[in-house]
Amino acid sequence: MTKHIKTPLPGPKARALIARDAQVVSPSYPREYPFVMSHGRGAEVWDVDGNRFLDFAAGIAVCSTGHSHPRVVQAIQSAAERFLHISSDFWHEGQIRLAERLNGLAPMEEPAMCFFAQSGTESVEAALKLARYVSGRGRFLGFLGGFHGRTMGSLSFTSSKYTQQKGFFPTMPGVTHVPYPNNYRPLFAGAEQGAAVLAYIEDVLFAGLVPPSEVAAILVEPIQGEGGYLVAPDGFLVGLRALCDRHGILLIYDEVQSGVGRTGKMFAAEHWAAVPDIVTLAKGLGSGLPIGAVVAKASIMSRWTRGAHGNTFGGNPLCCAAALATLELVEERYAANAATVGDYFIGRLRELQSRHDVIGEVRGKGLMLAMELVSDRQSRAPARPLCEAVLNRAYQNGLLLLSCGVSTLRFMPPLMVTTADVDEAITLLEASLTEAQAVPRPRASAAHS
Ligand code: PLP
Repeated sequence: MTKHIKTPLPGPKARALIARDAQVVSPSYPREYPFVMSHGRGAEVWDVDGNRFLDFAAGIAVCSTGHSHPRVVQAIQSAAERFLHISSDFWHEGQIRLAERLNGLAPMEEPAMCFFAQSGTESVEAALKLARYVSGRGRFLGFLGGFHGRTMGSLSFTSSKYTQQKGFFPTMPGVTHVPYPNNYRPLFAGAEQGAAVLAYIEDVLFAGLVPPSEVAAILVEPIQGEGGYLVAPDGFLVGLRALCDRHGILLIYDEVQSGVGRTGKMFAAEHWAAVPDIVTLAKGLGSGLPIGAVVAKASIMSRWTRGAHGNTFGGNPLCCAAALATLELVEERYAANAATVGDYFIGRLRELQSRHDVIGEVRGKGLMLAMELVSDRQSRAPARPLCEAVLNRAYQNGLLLLSCGVSTLRFMPPLMVTTADVDEAITLLEASLTEAQAVPRPRASAAHS
């Protein structure tokens, strides 16, 4: 047991709460291990039994400025003292200021406009509706391994895990999936995978199955999140942009996970010279308060007529205040910190890789990093049971992590972490990796949830 872990895990209070939860809360949540939150500060969290953990999951990449950053809390408190809600039927300055700020930061080279939502999935729904509305076209392309949410429209694209679509068919019609380029696990023999996927869309799909003139938009994650933290190979997004332009198709970047400084830049899009027409945001935008946004070229969003789309809670004043404070902090220092500490972190992960043959690939940008576990580097066979075992050992050792893809551990700490936090995480991670390899593996799960 590490010095911060005071009880066997889960502790007695956590066990009691989990038992109560099992009686009254939906069993559908895909929880990986029994951490029950008490409170947090920065990159540290405490469970209800007084055990302290280093949080490299950040509420699935949400707590961008760290837990309860004083400036974010202050902004929420002063907004709450004025009013809690007015609805999107009316105006308030916080929402306008947030739209001005986001439009100023957006990767588009022309004026932009915003639509506000409460979550990632709702932002994706809005982006899809916008694309259909302005194009008058009904089809879409998405990517295998993509994750865009779980409501019926976004779910029609989501394909990072088998269990997400299973039981919910029929989803929205008109979505065709293509492979996401992965040069570590190439699907197209003897080719650079980005170029091969582009050729497949143009020469196979558009030639025989999907008339490009009927495609409203292509929805893509610049770095595929739940699908395994796969970084789009250089040239791929530029090629996708050119393909969209050839056929009058809109390009939507889903930056719900990769946006707001996570990759060391405000938008992951800025890593490549390929500008989207529409971007979706959520997760890190509110530092924990539920807010999503669609940022689109004004030439596109201004074509929505009154009543074409709306909601009740979008642009909630507390969420807008949290988002404004978050964007200020990310612009001032945390995007730069994600780049610097991220470089240090990926170097430390590569060191670990040189000592452990089960680490197949280390990848990512900024503080959106991952390592794929394999049974050995030669075969590259995914090591899912090992990945589950490391996650559990890390929890026992006081480090919160999440997985993605089939057998990938992902690292998405708050953007304010220091190199000392990274050093602590690496020590705990290496211990967990060694312990997990030493114990008999848990059963393999055929369809992980
Ligand atoms: N898009 C991406 C890229 C995501 O990673 C997620 C969630 O993980 C979503 C959309 C859906 O967001 P939410 O869970 O807030 O609906």
